Amino acid sequence: MDSPDFTRFSVGLTGGIGCGKTTVADLFAARGASVIDTDQIAHALTAPGGAAMPALVAEFGADFAAPDGAMDRAKMRALVFADPGARTRLEAILHPRIREATAAAALLATGPYVIFVVPLLIESGTWRGRVARVLAIDCPEEVQVARVMARNNLPEAQVRAIMAAQVSRAERRLAADDIILNDDGLDALLPQVERLHAFYLDEAARLAGLPNERL
Ligand code: ATP
Repeated sequence: MDSPDFTRFSVGLTGGIGCGKTTVADLFAARGASVIDTDQIAHALTAPGGAAMPALVAEFGADFAAPDGAMDRAKMRALVFADPGARTRLEAILHPRIREATAAAALLATGPYVIFVVPLLIESGTWRGRVARVLAIDCPEEVQVARVMARNNLPEAQVRAIMAAQVSRAERRLAADDIILNDDGLDALLPQVERLHAFYLDEAARLAGLPNERL
């Protein structure tokens, strides 16, 4: 399936670690957008009883399931870090299931448009063609480092290592249709969210062939 939902206007929201994806997505959700978080979906697939667990155990062995039946994340992280082939096998199991679950969630969405939160949207390559707009949450790298160090209690080097595995700020900005700059307090976010929400409502209405007020 190429599109999560052909009938609905959809936005892919992305951004580097700590740039404020969740913060901004919550603001759109508060205005009525249907927000679907692909990280949450991936997590649910590998939680106890998760739909990907039987295939993961068949592929990697029962050792990769923790006693509660969830994926042993530390063990899997260590494996895929050391073995790129294992990462490919893991992604072959997870990616189609994430795609299927996001499509199912989009079909159930009741908002006027859908926002998919996809941290590695630009890196993954497949999402660009599935959404009408790519929205990047943008902030200076120093702000990212400070926020993630504070939130996750991580040393600076570890935060920078995670950032090094993601596209650069400049590349993300170039790939985006829309950008929200999140380098200040929440007050600075609101007008940017309001403006884009109004634009997305208009685009959704245009796609549906309806005047905006009927959405
Ligand atoms: P991740 O990539 O780790 O999932 P994220 O991009 O979803 O992160 P958030 O979790 O929304 O980012 O924000 C990271 C941290 O920075 C959080 O602790 C959040 O409360 C804080 N934060 C985000 N935006 C702002 C802001 N404008 N003012 C103050 N704090 C902020």
